[in-house]
Amino acid sequence: MSKTIYIKKTQEKFDAIVVGSGVTGGWAAKELCEKGLKTLMVERGRPVEHRKDYVGEGVKPWEMPFRGKIERDIVDEQYYIQKQNYAFNDATKHFYANDRDHPYSTPQEKPFSWIRGNQLGGKSLLWHRQSYRWSDLDFTANAKDGHGVDWPIRYKDIESWYDYVEHHVGISGSVENIPVLPDSKFLPPFEFNAVEKDLKAKFEKKYNDRKLIMGRCAHLSKPAPHHIEQGRYQCMARNECQKGCTFGAYFSTQSSTLPAALKTNNLSIATNSIVHSVIYDPKTNRATGVRIIDSETLETREYFAKVIFLCASTLGTTHVMLNSISEAFPTGIANSSGVLGHYLMDHLYGAGANGTVPGFEDEYYSGRRPTGVYIPRFRNVTKKDADFLRGYSFAGGAAREHWSQFAYKDGFGVDFKNAIKSAGEWKFGLRGSGEMLPRYENQVSLHPTKKDKWGMPQLHIECDYSDNDIKMLNDIADTAAEMLESAGLKNVQRTVEEWPPGLSIHEMGTARMGKDPKTSILNGYNQAHDVPNLFVTDGASMASCAWQNPSLTFMALTARACNYAVEQLKLGNI
Ligand SMILES: Cc1cc2nc3c(=O)[nH]c(=O)nc-3n(C[C@H](O)[C@H](O)[C@H](O)COP(=O)(O)OP(=O)(O)OC[C@H]3O[C@@H](n4cnc5c(N)ncnc54)[C@H](O)[C@@H]3O)c2cc1C
Ligand code: SF4
Repeated sequence: MSKTIYIKKTQEKFDAIVVGSGVTGGWAAKELCEKGLKTLMVERGRPVEHRKDYVGEGVKPWEMPFRGKIERDIVDEQYYIQKQNYAFNDATKHFYANDRDHPYSTPQEKPFSWIRGNQLGGKSLLWHRQSYRWSDLDFTANAKDGHGVDWPIRYKDIESWYDYVEHHVGISGSVENIPVLPDSKFLPPFEFNAVEKDLKAKFEKKYNDRKLIMGRCAHLSKPAPHHIEQGRYQCMARNECQKGCTFGAYFSTQSSTLPAALKTNNLSIATNSIVHSVIYDPKTNRATGVRIIDSETLETREYFAKVIFLCASTLGTTHVMLNSISEAFPTGIANSSGVLGHYLMDHLYGAGANGTVPGFEDEYYSGRRPTGVYIPRFRNVTKKDADFLRGYSFAGGAAREHWSQFAYKDGFGVDFKNAIKSAGEWKFGLRGSGEMLPRYENQVSLHPTKKDKWGMPQLHIECDYSDNDIKMLNDIADTAAEMLESAGLKNVQRTVEEWPPGLSIHEMGTARMGKDPKTSILNGYNQAHDVPNLFVTDGASMASCAWQNPSLTFMALTARACNYAVEQLKLGNI
C-alpha cells in the first residue's frame, strides 16, 4: 500500500464508515468506494500488508524452533482458545487474536471457542476458502419447520449477487446441476485422485441421492484477465494458504477487495482503532458515526459518516451493537425487538468416519491440493428421511500415508529406512457440516462487571447443542461409517466429538434479518429496521445457518446491501 491512507485524527466527515476489514468489511469498502463514497474502514487490529507481512510464508518446519509447534507456555498463556483451531501453528499464530487480551466469559458447563483474527484482513487471511451457494432449501427452512423467523429473502433475490461476487473472487469448481447447491461460472476444478474417483463411482452407484464432487474454493485455478489485473496469479497447489499467499491466489481482503477499494482513492483506513459503540442521534433517528478506543494509546476518538456498515464478524458486530446504548435504545442500538444477541448458531462439525482403502498401491499424486471432496446435503431434501430437522454435507478426501506415519514408531536398519521412503496405505475420511437450529437461548450479552484491558465490557456467550443437533451429529457419524463400509474400506472408525460451539468457526446470528421489526433486527437488505442508515452484513445477520460454509453468502449479501444503501442515499431516504 503506497498511498497515505492510514489516518488517526481527522475532521473529515465521511460518506460511509465500515467497521471491520475481513471478508465482509473488505467487500463493503470495495463496493462503497467504487460507487463513489468517501469511505473510512475502521479496524481494531494492526495493519497487515499483502506479501510483506506474511512472515510465516515459505518458512519450512525445520526452520522453526519447534518444527511448527509453539512453546507450551506461550500457548497456555496467550492462545488457550485459538490453539484449538486446526490451522493454528507457529507460522500462522500472528493472524490469531491473543486470548489473554481478548477475554470473554461463558457458563462453565457451556464452553464456546471464539476463534478470531483481529488484524487488517480479519479471518480472510485464515479461512479455508470453501465457497458454496445456498439455495431455497435454506432460505425457506425456517418458514417450513417454524424454527427461527422466515428469511425476508429467497434465492432469486441473491442469485445475481452470487454471480457478481464470484466473478471478482474466482471460484474453482464443477457444474453439477444439484438443486440444493446452485452452480456458478466456475474456474476449473482441482483434480480427483485415483481413490476419490473410485469412491465417487461407488457412492453414486449405491446412493441415488448423493453426489461426490470436487470442493468449490476461492482459488485461482486458472486466473481470468480481471484477476491478473487485481495483481493475483495462478494457485500453485501448495496448500500453505493460511500463512498468507504472495501469489494472491486465494481470496482475501489483502489480495482482492482492498486493492480494488484503494484504486478508487476513496478509501481511508484507521487501524488499531477499536470501535466501542455506534453514535446515535435521536433527533434524526440516524447513526452518525462511531466512537473508538486507540488500542495503542488508549485515546478515544469519534469518526462521522452518513451511513455505517458493521462488518466486525458475527460476535464482534453484536458486541458493538450491545455496547451502543442510548435513551432510545437502552439494550443496544436498533434493538426495539429485544432479539439482539439471541439465536446464535454455529455449524455441527466433529462427526464423521474414516478408514483404510485396500489396494491402489501403484497410484500416486503430486502437489498439495488446497481443497477436498464434497457431498452436498441429501437428508430431508425432497422428503423427511431422518428423525431430526434440516441436514448436513460431507467434506473429505483420500490421501496416502507418508513418512510421517513413522514419526512415532521405533525401528532401524535398511528395511526401516526403505519403509520410510515408500508411500503408505490409502486413507479416506468424511466429516459432516450440519445445520444447527436457531434457538433463542443460544445468546450473547454484555458481562455486567468484567471488562477487557481497553475498558470494553466483555461479551458473555451461552451456546449449547439441542437434541436435534445431537441426533444429527450421530446420524452424520453413522452414515459416514456406513458409506465407507459399503465401499469396502477397512478399519472404519466412527467419530462423534461434541466439540464446543464456536470451534466450527462459522458462528452466525445474533442480529438476524426478518420481515417483522418486532422479531428481527434487520430487513431484507441488511438494514436495521429501527435505524435506517445502519447496516449489518456479516454473519450476525443470518436468520439460519444452513449446512454450507457461509462466507460466500456473506459476501453476496454485503455487495447487495451496499448497492441498496447507495441507492437510498441518492434518493435522500437515509
Ligand atoms: C481457520 C478458518 C477456516 C475457515 N474456513 C472457511 C471456509 O472454508 N469457508 C467459509 O465460508 N468460511 C470459513 N471460515 C469462516 C470465515 O473466516 C468467516 O466466515 C469470515 O471471515 C467472516 O467474515 P467477517 O468479515 O464477518 O469477519 P472477519 O473476517 O473475522 O473480519 C472481522 C474484522 O472486524 C474486526 N473487528 C472486530 N471487532 C471490531 C471492533 N470493535 N472495532 C473494529 N474492528 C473490529 C476484526 O479485527 C476483523 O478484522 C473459516 C474461519 C477460520 C478461522
Ligand atoms: S495453495 Fe494456492 S492459494 Fe494456497 S498458498 Fe499455495 S499458491 Fe497460494
